[in-house]
Amino acid sequence: MLDSNHSSYLDPILIRHAHQPRNLVQILREAQEHFGYLHPDAIDYLSEKLKWPRARIEGVAGFYSFLHLQPCGKYRVLFSDNITDRMLGNQALMERMCRNLWVEPGKISEDGLVSIDTTSCTGMCDQGPALLVNGRAITRLSAERIDRICELIRANTPLTDWPPEYFVVEDNIRRRDVLLSGDWHVGEAIRAAIARGAEAMMAEMKLSNLRGRGGAGFTTAIKWESARVAPCQPDNPMRYIICNADEGEPGTFKDRVLLTSYADLVFDGMTVAGFAVGAAKGLVYLRGEYLYLLPALQANLDGRRCNGLLGTAVCGQAGFDFDIEIHVGAGAYVCGEETALIESLEGKRGVPRVRPPFPVTYGYLGQPSVVNNVETLCKAALIAQKGGAWYASLGTKQSTGTKLLSISGDVENPGIYEYAFGVSVTQVLNDCGAGNAQAVQVSGASGICLATHEFARHISFEDVPTAGAFMVFGAHRDMFEVARNFSHFFAHESCGFCTPCRVGTTLVANFMDKIANEHGSQYEINEIFKIHRLMNVASHCGLGQAACNPIIDTLLKFRPAYERRLRSLDFEPSFDLDEALAAARQMTGRDDPGAHFGLQAREQGVQS
Ligand code: SF4
Repeated sequence: MLDSNHSSYLDPILIRHAHQPRNLVQILREAQEHFGYLHPDAIDYLSEKLKWPRARIEGVAGFYSFLHLQPCGKYRVLFSDNITDRMLGNQALMERMCRNLWVEPGKISEDGLVSIDTTSCTGMCDQGPALLVNGRAITRLSAERIDRICELIRANTPLTDWPPEYFVVEDNIRRRDVLLSGDWHVGEAIRAAIARGAEAMMAEMKLSNLRGRGGAGFTTAIKWESARVAPCQPDNPMRYIICNADEGEPGTFKDRVLLTSYADLVFDGMTVAGFAVGAAKGLVYLRGEYLYLLPALQANLDGRRCNGLLGTAVCGQAGFDFDIEIHVGAGAYVCGEETALIESLEGKRGVPRVRPPFPVTYGYLGQPSVVNNVETLCKAALIAQKGGAWYASLGTKQSTGTKLLSISGDVENPGIYEYAFGVSVTQVLNDCGAGNAQAVQVSGASGICLATHEFARHISFEDVPTAGAFMVFGAHRDMFEVARNFSHFFAHESCGFCTPCRVGTTLVANFMDKIANEHGSQYEINEIFKIHRLMNVASHCGLGQAACNPIIDTLLKFRPAYERRLRSLDFEPSFDLDEALAAARQMTGRDDPGAHFGLQAREQGVQS
């Protein structure tokens, strides 16, 4: 059982979260900070206090990759493993660290001091390679930095005494337009919305034709209007505005910058949405990788409460009460899907819900909820200030306004670029210094891979839609390896709820490995196409539906990258009999043709 010290540590956490099981992810995350992992006694204690079965709590903890049911190292090191980190040499750096500290990847050192592993993209692609140590991001890794980090770990140095420059995360804003130009004042959007009135604010939103910036491009005004008119549950007359800051798509980091340097605009946008929709509560779902932003965001919210921008009678408007809470995610890409995010906010496993009902009618705690991306909310704040017609005059007819692009990969100046919709891919490549690009992966792993003959296309919902990621691959890059990295990403991030995605993503990753190991054949490629068609129609959510996109795109546009690895055009087993018998041949001292069963069998197969 827990000693009194442990329970005295857990009790304040429970009090802070009102003993509410719906805050379970937050409770587990904070409990883990003390123990380094979720000690079985801690789970028993939480089960008793929350009146939730132990198995249910373990089930939630087991879902999130940043929650640990087994001991980890005192220093938990996770190397960001996006393709852009690989292009910057993260694998060699991880091997170096493992060698220096005598620890195998995925294991804990014998003295329990350190564990080293990989994690999906950490949102630092403009300043990679990156790692997380006990949840804190370290960027711009180099061999020297790795060696110094190893010394600090060996000396048991607290993170607070590590060189502060290691933890610097830069904004890298390279191109500004209406949003990033900073032509706005804190609270101005809220005052403008109040002066107009809720109905007129909704009219401006419709006029603006703002579409969601998280990828799907749904019209924001329709979302707001649907939640506004949807009935609440009789016992809890609340509507919610949820800010989706779970920016997990590989290659995307624009929301990190907005939350770092434009947090007031995000909170203004949430408050404007609350006013227009009639919501009294806002929730920010901040991805676990951005935990380092939490103190500054909390301080910002405190300041806004003091200045009358949150709380009761916001900006002096009687009857308009609105406040914002921040929830931190715990490492699950699928929680970027709005219904999975809501499940996670309710303290559950982040498994996407069956839709309909949609969140606008049945969202957080069963109440009408608007889920908007960070950038969408910033744009809503600008519309409140400057009007829907002004916003609609920017961009193209179906894609009004501007779009932030997170540019990384083989470019001279990675970072954030803001463009009016309609800009050509060529223009973007010229601006960021991508001299010899052979491909651009737009909108992350689940997006679209453009080859050179498509660079005249335009960034817009009517041509190349994007949630913001823009990863550039130079002519020297192997596009097969790019697709293979994405296949493993999806296999890792599939939540496992539905069979087509759970099995399909793993099969595809295995096929890609088989091709990489030069045991592949046309059979594997045919199977990938078959699985893609199946997953596309039978998967429960967008993750499974889009998981094969990067492979299909590269197969269609960069076929030689696959074909040069194929051993034959027929089926080829992944098990190499001849290779497996090498040790036996060595022991028996035989190397005559008769001892090479595998080769014989293969040659016979070719002749027949
Ligand atoms: Fe989970 Fe994949 Fe099914 Fe989505 S498609 S619910 S991520 S298993």
